[in-house]
Amino acid sequence: MTNASPGGVTETEWSAAVDAVRGLTPGPDGDEVQLICHVNPDGDALGSMLGFALALRERGITRLRATFPGDFELPTPYQDLPGVELLVPEPEAFRAPALVMTFDVAAESRLGDLVALLRAPCVVVLDHHASNTRFGQVNLVDPRAAATSVVVDGLLSRLGVPLDAAIAECLYVALATDTGSFKFDMTTPEVHELAARLIAAGISPGDISRRIFDTRPFGAMKLAGEVIGRATLDPTAAGGQGMVWTYATQADLARHDQRPYVLDTLIDPVRGVAEADVAVVIKETPQGDWSVSLRSKGAVDVSRVAVSLGGGGHRLAAGFTGHGTPEEVAATVKGLLAANLI
Ligand code: AMP
Ligand code: MN
Ligand code: MN
Repeated sequence: MTNASPGGVTETEWSAAVDAVRGLTPGPDGDEVQLICHVNPDGDALGSMLGFALALRERGITRLRATFPGDFELPTPYQDLPGVELLVPEPEAFRAPALVMTFDVAAESRLGDLVALLRAPCVVVLDHHASNTRFGQVNLVDPRAAATSVVVDGLLSRLGVPLDAAIAECLYVALATDTGSFKFDMTTPEVHELAARLIAAGISPGDISRRIFDTRPFGAMKLAGEVIGRATLDPTAAGGQGMVWTYATQADLARHDQRPYVLDTLIDPVRGVAEADVAVVIKETPQGDWSVSLRSKGAVDVSRVAVSLGGGGHRLAAGFTGHGTPEEVAATVKGLLAANLI
């Protein structure tokens, strides 16, 4: 029995990925392997990538680097993840690695300038976005998986790599973040079965959850209060099922001396509003455009909304890059909701 969700990945693809990893020459003169996750990495992107990195290192792959595009800044909760020492800034990525593996990357557009590395002789994609563009030679893409870490677990089990505590911590962070602490629809029996095996490997779920979900700077809490305080409810949106939206600017971050990642969890209180199916948080980027988070309770396919605006994601959780004022971005989203009712 395998531990990955069946169906999304063919046995041919699993075998090709196993062969690509088993074919690597280990050691200091061995093959270079570059691991990449998506821009603005979240818990699934980092946890999946570092968990697999640790497994490769245990197999003797020492010419091994992990990276992500853009500023080399990790959200504070992820700075202590096992394997974080394998992370290098984008400019220090290998130039011509033998193998490239991507984690939680739905499309080339999420790779920034690292897209050039897709010229490597072998590219293996591990992901769970239904919108994945299958840009590798080998595509381990399972839209039924709750997190990319479920796909990583499937590959590790086929490689015969046991889950030690360090790997398990990475995969648990990935699984817990992408399932919203085991609350979302994707929280299947397989998710809990994987969580059970990860906990059995010796991790402390209470400590991890406290660090990842329940610890924030005082300024981040004050900032959240302001951003939530300016939320707008539009009951007419989404064919009358409602939309609630808010925004946060770079000036808000500066006033509270906070880093952008603290805005990423603000979608959670906003999406809890009973009167709205759709929640939208519009976050200003350092470049002056807007990183937009979309969530639906089930009435709207927000991934279709995001894709039509150049972004992507899942049916009930998606995002895109917006332009104009926050009001204009909200109006653009509202204009697309009624056409994308499920
Ligand atoms: P977020 O709102 O940032 O938590 O993202 C929700 C989902 O949408 C995740 O699966 C992301 O991978 C996806 N997503 C967010 N922003 C973008 C974007 N600009 N392009 C493609 N996918 C995105
Ligand atoms: Mn992600
Ligand atoms: Mn993910």
